Amino acid sequence: VFQLSMPLNFLGTVYRELRQSLLDMEVLFNLRRNNPPIRDPVGAPPFEFKGGSIRFEDVDFAYHPQRPIFQSLSFTVPPGKKVAIVGPSGCGKSTVLRLLYRFYEPSAGRILVDGQDITKIQLDTLRQAIGVVPQDTPLFHADIMHNIRYGKLNATDEEVKTAAVRANVHDTIQRLPDGYKTKVGERGLMISGGEKQRLAVARVVLKDPPILFFDEATSALDSRTEMELMKNINANLVDNSRTSIFIAHRLRTVVDADHIIVLRNGRVEEEGTHETLLRLRGLYYEMWLAQADTIGQEEATNGARAIEEAK
Ligand code: ATP
Repeated sequence: VFQLSMPLNFLGTVYRELRQSLLDMEVLFNLRRNNPPIRDPVGAPPFEFKGGSIRFEDVDFAYHPQRPIFQSLSFTVPPGKKVAIVGPSGCGKSTVLRLLYRFYEPSAGRILVDGQDITKIQLDTLRQAIGVVPQDTPLFHADIMHNIRYGKLNATDEEVKTAAVRANVHDTIQRLPDGYKTKVGERGLMISGGEKQRLAVARVVLKDPPILFFDEATSALDSRTEMELMKNINANLVDNSRTSIFIAHRLRTVVDADHIIVLRNGRVEEEGTHETLLRLRGLYYEMWLAQADTIGQEEATNGARAIEEAK
């Protein structure tokens, strides 16, 4: 009996893991359960990473036909760069990520990653290449070790701990009642929004993906915690070997991006570096001034003065 039940139990575990990961993805993207599953075309090749360039080409998309989100949206994210996507609330920033991850399909146009149309390659190999730090990190009802290991299921305990150190969450974990064995998630120990996001960073550090997507929390974190988190991400995850895309609500987090894409009304309204966008005196400039309260009056005036001087 023992010998027979072993492999069955094992299969049960694997099945639960799989189910769990599907659940996680739904939570991750705030999706309802009944999305039609996307199937790979027969004989689709795996995704081949060649630097991490991303291109949206004339993409049309709507959740509901009567309300278009994107109309002929086109932009390019160069490989190995740090790119930010900004724009008014509801303009579709998080939707860009959902389309790239192929949770939804454009009704027209194409999305290319390293020149490969994402509808023509094996979806799981594409997703494997993309690491996401979501707005609100889903935690499973399991211990912390398991929750971080989710980034790479075959990681050793040592690898998990190294990732936690790099994500600046190791010390916090060690202070918990049962350390890495502390149960979190539903019915588990409550942890703060900042700690949750650092666990998400640890997951991504462990996954070490060539493409990184960071969806900034709208309200979960106070700005000091957010700044520390950004510093940590910049130090540990952003480098020339991977493409990083930041969906930003606070413009201060994108000032140093190589390229900033400003979305409005389903299209790219303007794009460039922080300085060139300020000089344009368009939407980005308006948003920058409007955020003066949160970014500090001083910095905003300095920004404005820099433009005056540049003229
Ligand atoms: P914010 O800055 O407020 O986070 P955003 O720019 O990231 O917003 P999205 O979350 O991409 O915007 O949403 C774009 C629009 O699509 C919004 O008007 C939103 O209400 C709508 N929307 C988002 N998800 C869905 C969905 N699953 N079904 C229907 N409409 C949706």
